[in-house]
Amino acid sequence: MSAEINTDILIIGAGPAGAGTALFLAKQGISCVLTDKATFPRDKVCGDALSGKVVEVLKKLDPSYLEELNAHKKFLGSWGVTFVSPNGESLRVPFGKREAQSSSPGFITKRLDFDQWLFQKAKNHPLITTYESAEIRSYERAGEHIIAHSKDGAAFRTRLVIACDGAYSSFAKNIAGIKTEAAHNCFGLRAYYSGVSGLDSANFIELHFIKDVLPGYLWIFPLPNGEANVGIGMRADKLNKKKINLKKALEKAIRENNVLRERFSRAELLGEVKLFGLPLGSLKRKLSGDNYMLCGDAAQLIDPFTGEGIGNALMSGHYAAIQAARCLKSNNFSEQFIQQYDQELYQRLWSEFQLSYRLQQLVNFPSLFNFVVRKANSNKALQETISCMFEDMDMRARLKTPAFYFKLLFS
Ligand SMILES: Cc1cc2nc3c(=O)[nH]c(=O)nc-3n(C[C@H](O)[C@H](O)[C@H](O)COP(=O)(O)OP(=O)(O)OC[C@H]3O[C@@H](n4cnc5c(N)ncnc54)[C@H](O)[C@@H]3O)c2cc1C
Repeated sequence: MSAEINTDILIIGAGPAGAGTALFLAKQGISCVLTDKATFPRDKVCGDALSGKVVEVLKKLDPSYLEELNAHKKFLGSWGVTFVSPNGESLRVPFGKREAQSSSPGFITKRLDFDQWLFQKAKNHPLITTYESAEIRSYERAGEHIIAHSKDGAAFRTRLVIACDGAYSSFAKNIAGIKTEAAHNCFGLRAYYSGVSGLDSANFIELHFIKDVLPGYLWIFPLPNGEANVGIGMRADKLNKKKINLKKALEKAIRENNVLRERFSRAELLGEVKLFGLPLGSLKRKLSGDNYMLCGDAAQLIDPFTGEGIGNALMSGHYAAIQAARCLKSNNFSEQFIQQYDQELYQRLWSEFQLSYRLQQLVNFPSLFNFVVRKANSNKALQETISCMFEDMDMRARLKTPAFYFKLLFS
């Protein structure tokens, strides 16, 4: 490639944020160029869990997508989550009260397959021009435009960059001036296993709050073909302070933990164990400026408690596409005009991030965590409250109030 490519909208990165933004633009009849440094299908280190929020945004894109996911053999429907507290007691929480419905509230699928599925939707759309193996190495401002230069010499001239280039976004760092701070960043390690025993019959995802890795957690997410995504994550500042080696911590937990030892006794590690960053949404950032917006991990939108980022990546793509349409209509790509994107996105997400940040701190108190799990196991109403919290943010807000713990103690 060596020519100059002109486009009103250039999306850098074709993961969920980038492919989602392109599809939301196309839905409004707007064309764009979508570039990625990788060639699809490509892997992305992740827990591979698609939450209810992913389902909600995909439905907005096209309701038929959900039928496709339900019928796709590489997507496994998941109906809930099991928490295992530091003392080994477990609490099984269905997502809402929908266990009887035909479509599952969430899915688990390897990112290799999910991102390929979504990218193909974009690639096949006549309004979206895709470039794979097109790594953007530098950016230059030219009057009303930004020119993005790729590794192999192509130049993309655009009025609007939508940066979806992930957790290590060079656009966010070099053009938007956003730093990653250890207290608002996490590292996660992902491994694939076969032969893990005791996986849930309704494919509940499992979060294990093991003493040695607090305030982080270990996860086991069942996958199609009887495999499992197994990983461990912790906030970067805590990792540094405690000098924890995540790989060793994962191996030790699997070897020695009372709950896990037996379940992994015949398990086999498949491929490499890989590490990647999770930029958390617990700090408000400036997500736009003259001629640009940031989406997904480039905008640091991962839930500070659950570590979910795919739903927020897709959701930010939806808001960015709405703002991009306004920019084109008013022929205005100025910082002042585009900042409506930040306002609308944070209006939707900020209270969620604040609550999740509080929940993240609950894990710093293992005995309180043990207590809530024990109590919930003997109290149906509390179980339902926790279950509803996964769907209803007002319910989740109850965890912030002293009255919740008072009732818990004396109920
Ligand atoms: C260990 C771990 C576990 C996780 N578990 C979950 C989970 O279970 N559920 C969940 O919802 N979230 C999870 N997340 C978070 C989730 O993976 C991210 O939030 C999600 O991938 C964000 O999507 P994105 O499109 O913003 O970025 P990405 O998926 O990272 O996509 C970015 C794209 O940009 C491309 N790119 C990068 N630089 C350039 C460049 N210079 N030029 C061109 N292209 C470029 C990359 O090739 C990539 O395709 C996890 C993350 C980690 C690390």
